[in-house]
Amino acid sequence: MSSQRGNVVRTRPQRHQNAEVFRNDKHDTSAHRKKINAKLHEGLCQHCKEVLEWRVKFNKYKPLTKPKKCVKCLQKTVKDSYHIVCKPCACELELCAKCGKQETIVIPIQTSPVKTEEQAAQNDEQKSTRETLEGGGELNLGGGLEDDLELLMQRIKNLKPEKTEVQ
Ligand SMILES: [Zn+2]
Ligand SMILES: [Zn+2]
Repeated sequence: MSSQRGNVVRTRPQRHQNAEVFRNDKHDTSAHRKKINAKLHEGLCQHCKEVLEWRVKFNKYKPLTKPKKCVKCLQKTVKDSYHIVCKPCACELELCAKCGKQETIVIPIQTSPVKTEEQAAQNDEQKSTRETLEGGGELNLGGGLEDDLELLMQRIKNLKPEKTEVQ
């Protein structure tokens, strides 16, 4: 009964002060990791985009193994993790694909890299409907769901020497 293991009171506060910016590809240089890192978070509002970027950065992004059900068209067309609206619906309804709210989309969805003339005309139509749809776009942050993420993201922001502004 001389040594009491596990009975040590830790007085040191637990702190994570990373001197250098965290890199998730430091040890994992697989193609899989690169693919996730290169992922373009399109069709998302600023908040959701940041959340997903955070997930990717800290290896918390799990790619979908099979398509999920879209909350709008109810088809199994959602191919991106954490998204609730499929790309065609998000594009058509001008919604954020992750929170499903009518927010300002940071990176517009590109349905196909090569645009046909027909698609270009459709896009023009969508632009005019977008103008009528916008206006009620208050910033609706929070909801309490991702409080932890919020907190960590704040920390990350503090870690970053410069914040990349996305217009
Ligand atoms: Zn859909
Ligand atoms: Zn969103």
